[in-house]
Amino acid sequence: MPNVGFVWHERYMWHNTGMAAGSIPAGGLVEPEIHIENPSAKRRMRNLLEVTGVMDSLTPLRPRPVTMDEVLRVHGAAYIERLQAMSELGFGEAGDHAPVGKNSWEIALMSAGGCLVAAEAVWDRTVDTAYALVRPPGHHCERDRGRGFCLLANIPIAIEHLRRTRGARRIATVDWDVHHGNGTQSLFYEDADVLTISLHQDRCYPLDSGGVEERGTGAGEGANINVPLPPGTGHGGYLAAFDRIVLPALERFRPEIIIVPSGFDACAMDPLGRMLLTTDSYRAMTERLMAAAAQLCQGRLALCHEGGYSPAYAPWCGLAVMETLAGLPPTPDPYAHLALSGGQELKPAEDALIGMIEARLEHVPIGA
Ligand code: ZN
Repeated sequence: MPNVGFVWHERYMWHNTGMAAGSIPAGGLVEPEIHIENPSAKRRMRNLLEVTGVMDSLTPLRPRPVTMDEVLRVHGAAYIERLQAMSELGFGEAGDHAPVGKNSWEIALMSAGGCLVAAEAVWDRTVDTAYALVRPPGHHCERDRGRGFCLLANIPIAIEHLRRTRGARRIATVDWDVHHGNGTQSLFYEDADVLTISLHQDRCYPLDSGGVEERGTGAGEGANINVPLPPGTGHGGYLAAFDRIVLPALERFRPEIIIVPSGFDACAMDPLGRMLLTTDSYRAMTERLMAAAAQLCQGRLALCHEGGYSPAYAPWCGLAVMETLAGLPPTPDPYAHLALSGGQELKPAEDALIGMIEARLEHVPIGA
């Protein structure tokens, strides 16, 4: 059986995003409700792993906080000082839609550290694959500002760690969160050695990034691939994007490890996304990435949690990923009817977009 590492820490659930309505801060005519980025979906995913017994097959990986040196490889000192001050105060915004509560700084260090530990364990072959169920997320965070519920760039911090301590040279990220991985993109935009791929809903968040024309610059030209799928994309569209874009790009690039910013907000019940994915979809995407990793990089595949705001359904999508990684039979999905809904097939607009990006894959840097 594959040895699957699992990162979790109770303190991840204590990051306090405060009161809001959806993702809009409360105030004025906006009546306070619990912020949409709250522990519920994450805690319920962990609970589901426990009650199904899947947790018994996983290898616990103990997270550690990242050090200031590790943070400053990716972030500017002024931003970090600002973030620390807000965390100390117990209130603030690290950027647009990036609320900070009391001690969010310390929890963010632990979240980045969870991703680092997962990537490191996979790199060192301590485990075959790993999933870091962390919070707060990281893929919207840029060098000098938090964004989209993200305070630190978790995966870029892990990537820089692998480069400096393990001599990693070629790393690929495949971001299946429904939102654009703008932070990861921006941090490696001129870097030919980090291939950043993001499949997301067209102009969902951020509104002004994630277009197909953003392909990297300078030495990094061709090493960023955006797949801005139309709202309503389902199983067929995502798998076509995997088969015709993601897998050929990985084959060309030949990474030494694949890291997935893993959000479950492209699922059919997410309040922030308008996509139609089901447990079948997450299982199929995981299988494809496992096969690519086996072929290209001795199976090295690490997944780090990002978004996913349906407390009811995101845990089942997470369970499907974990069962696939662990080689366990699928637990029947109580929401199986979602797979039968209209719109799951590949549609002409999706096909045309995928075809356009497919035609440019020759620009992806070729790995040795
Ligand atoms: Zn998201």
